[in-house]
Amino acid sequence: MTTTASIQPTEIRKETGGLRITWADGHVGLYPHRYLRAHCQCAACVDEWSRKVLVQVERIPSDITPLEIRPVGRYAIHVEWSDGHGTGIYGFSLLRQLCPCERCAPGGPVYPSDPIDPAGGNASTDQAGGGR
Ligand SMILES: [Zn+2]
Ligand SMILES: [Zn+2]
Repeated sequence: MTTTASIQPTEIRKETGGLRITWADGHVGLYPHRYLRAHCQCAACVDEWSRKVLVQVERIPSDITPLEIRPVGRYAIHVEWSDGHGTGIYGFSLLRQLCPCERCAPGGPVYPSDPIDPAGGNASTDQAGGGR
């Protein structure tokens, strides 16, 4: 087990701008709701086998909020989102890695990007309407 004090939250508070998590080592991170939703690790959002991100970031409503936040054992939280997604699960170690504060993410919060290669044979029907 690698449970250290730094990955135990002492307080998780829902605020207008996001979820404020205070860690046992005194570190505080404010996670924008949309950012958290984009990083959901459930089977519907990340493929269990390939680890491919299935969640479509651009389809997450900008005003998304957590309806309910519940602890899962001593290692994670379960979040029910206002877009109807109710299986969100966030391990504490993941949350700590995702911390979007200036010290942890100097370039700002990073959203998961679609790993599909645009040159990878995406059949496009753009050319289908030829002939005037
Ligand atoms: Zn999910
Ligand atoms: Zn941080």
